[in-house]
Amino acid sequence: MKPIRVIDLLRSQETGKPAEVKGWVRTKRGNKQIAFIAVNDGSIIHSIQVVAEVAKFDEELMKQISTGSCVHVKGILVPSQGSGQAVEIQATEIILLGGADESFPLQKKGHSLEFLREIAHLRPRTNTFGAILRMRHHMAFAVHKYFNDLGFFYLHSPVITGSDAEGAGEMFQVTTLDLKNPPRTEEGEINFKEDFFGKATNLTVSGQLEGELAAMALGNVYTFGPTFRAENSNTPRHLAEFWMIEPEMAFYDIQDNMDLAEDFLKYLIQYALDHCKDDLEFLNNLYDKELIGRLQFVVSNPFERLSYTKAVDILVNSGKKFEFPVKWGTDLQKEHENYLVEHFKRPVILTDYPKEIKAFYMKQNEDGKTVRAMDVLFPWIGEIIGGSQREENYEKLMARITEMHIPEKDLWWYLDTRKYGACEHSGFGLGFERLMLFVTGMTNIRDVIPFPRTPKNADF
Ligand code: ATP
Ligand code: MN
Repeated sequence: MKPIRVIDLLRSQETGKPAEVKGWVRTKRGNKQIAFIAVNDGSIIHSIQVVAEVAKFDEELMKQISTGSCVHVKGILVPSQGSGQAVEIQATEIILLGGADESFPLQKKGHSLEFLREIAHLRPRTNTFGAILRMRHHMAFAVHKYFNDLGFFYLHSPVITGSDAEGAGEMFQVTTLDLKNPPRTEEGEINFKEDFFGKATNLTVSGQLEGELAAMALGNVYTFGPTFRAENSNTPRHLAEFWMIEPEMAFYDIQDNMDLAEDFLKYLIQYALDHCKDDLEFLNNLYDKELIGRLQFVVSNPFERLSYTKAVDILVNSGKKFEFPVKWGTDLQKEHENYLVEHFKRPVILTDYPKEIKAFYMKQNEDGKTVRAMDVLFPWIGEIIGGSQREENYEKLMARITEMHIPEKDLWWYLDTRKYGACEHSGFGLGFERLMLFVTGMTNIRDVIPFPRTPKNADF
């Protein structure tokens, strides 16, 4: 007989039959006669209750079965006497696989999220992080399922890049040079020709440029991988290492791009509602009573779409005193994004931003002032997706590269797509952890990734 997962046991109708389970003890309570041991194996948020008649077991063993220890329980599955669960295990044999003494830090319920960040190696053993990690899995799977079902191909873009042209953010340098004594050129500069790749290299800030190359061959592709930004932005929505999903589609204009972004987000949120019910209910009850309602609202209402110019009008005419004053041409801050989402009471897609505040590759509009950018703004989170139709015209793209003093020599391969068989195309980037913030209702991005990397923090 194979041990069964708690999720299967709790749903099992096979009462009266032998059952066994392996997992970690969450709590043990009871009296001299009887012990109630909650065993959780991570397969589901709920634990299974193990009932043990104390007299039938070794005294020393019963002492060692404590919060945090790992046990193998054999017994009979029976209808539960208590409320809260349909079935429980009447134990006939308990094997202690791994003990845990009183120094186990998760003794009591209700530790603060801040404290749990300091013990990120153990926090998966809490209900909260069990729920979040299971949901992360389901969301990642849903990303692949969505694109696979639509005929997109998963492209593995490189993590190490030799160009810093994307301009999405500050980069982490990758080097094998001896930092104490690096080789120098005759001018006294560090000589990267002697570095591992024969040039300066960095961790990627985006897979988009490579995504565009593949879209010009496979049609519709997406990347989904780790992304790195060395900005010193210590906010609840920024990580130095995060996961980004970047679809790139040949023959898509900005309308198609917006339609895909909206459909994709709704699909992912519906997937969470359909597949993460227990975990969502737990998070909803403990942290955010409006979580499930908010998710249901977003999937069942159209996003508001308007231009940056109209949005700025709304902000200026709002009469609200923003910390960062807003006028046409300024980059929108989180307070502005939040105001717009509140104003329309739903997610908002802003388009046609001033070209000065957007990347060089975005398609230039006829007006000479704006580009076909699209940002999707979500309640509380602000920007969850940033995307655009891409400039496919070689001359226009080159003019922008020159204007913005972007080192062209790093981009020759990218520019080749505009020389050979260029076509209309579009794409966007969704920050996976920003999505996770939204679907879990957590308010700090450090709590939706197993081991967060932020300024001055790379433990575990
Ligand atoms: P922001 O203005 O919020 O810093 P951005 O405009 O720099 O974001 P993009 O370069 O457009 O971000 O990246 C695409 C998406 O990646 C964003 O919409 C967001 O969801 C996510 N993202 C960007 N930077 C981070 C970060 N440091 N940590 C987590 N997610 C991020
Ligand atoms: Mn952006």
